[in-house]
Amino acid sequence: MWESSRARRLNANLQGAEVRAPEALAAMNPRPATILIVEDHVTTRRFLADNLSADGYEPVEADTARDGRRLMASHSPQLAIIDLGLPDRDGLELLRDVRQSDELVSRIDRHLPVIVLSGRAGELDRVRGFERGADDYLVKPFSYPELRGRIAALLRRARRSPSASRLHVGPLEVDPLGREVRLGGKLVHLSKKEFALLRTLAEEPTRVFTRDELLRGVWGYLSPGTTRTLDSHASRLRRKLTGGGSAFVVNVWGVGYRLVDGAVDG
Ligand code: CA
Repeated sequence: MWESSRARRLNANLQGAEVRAPEALAAMNPRPATILIVEDHVTTRRFLADNLSADGYEPVEADTARDGRRLMASHSPQLAIIDLGLPDRDGLELLRDVRQSDELVSRIDRHLPVIVLSGRAGELDRVRGFERGADDYLVKPFSYPELRGRIAALLRRARRSPSASRLHVGPLEVDPLGREVRLGGKLVHLSKKEFALLRTLAEEPTRVFTRDELLRGVWGYLSPGTTRTLDSHASRLRRKLTGGGSAFVVNVWGVGYRLVDGAVDG
């Protein structure tokens, strides 16, 4: 295993990728970005995965559109590289799913930066890729250093966009990209639904969100269903967020919830 991975990396170096220092990259960027590779050609996928991990990223691999979609939801990647010719569905359909995703239901970030990596080199193909929502389009055969440059540029841009910025409410910090919550600097472990609920409330900390609104937004219920589910998640979330000196997840009787009652001091 070690031998083969070493051989592959050596091979990658021979193909023109220079020697890198992952420690240096890791020091600059303490949390490595997860990059999803959706590619059915095994050599290409492994080549990408090896080089990306050598560059300090955390690659996750899928060989079908279906798997890609599943990993988008379960791993919350910060960027995806998508091949178009996939065995089950066209990569463009996967891309459309991403852009049309109801984030809180599917758990797929609609603004996920996507680079299409395809053998389809025609102008029409590239235009179609951008029309479907690709952020970038690279034609095979590709240069890895160029791809790496494009990845870095997209991640830089994504970090600056408002949807990716951390939300601060007093001692509470919600990181939508990293799906992390800290209270007074300490990591708080939340379930996916608890996180989705908190993220929604934290977008407008003092606004009262109605029960219907939260059930629809977080659980995706078409018609308002059991408020018991909402209440039990809200109270678990409240318990997990106690101890910072502020009361979070305030029940507004008969209406719904808000994150805080009033202004919170940082
Ligand atoms: Ca393919």
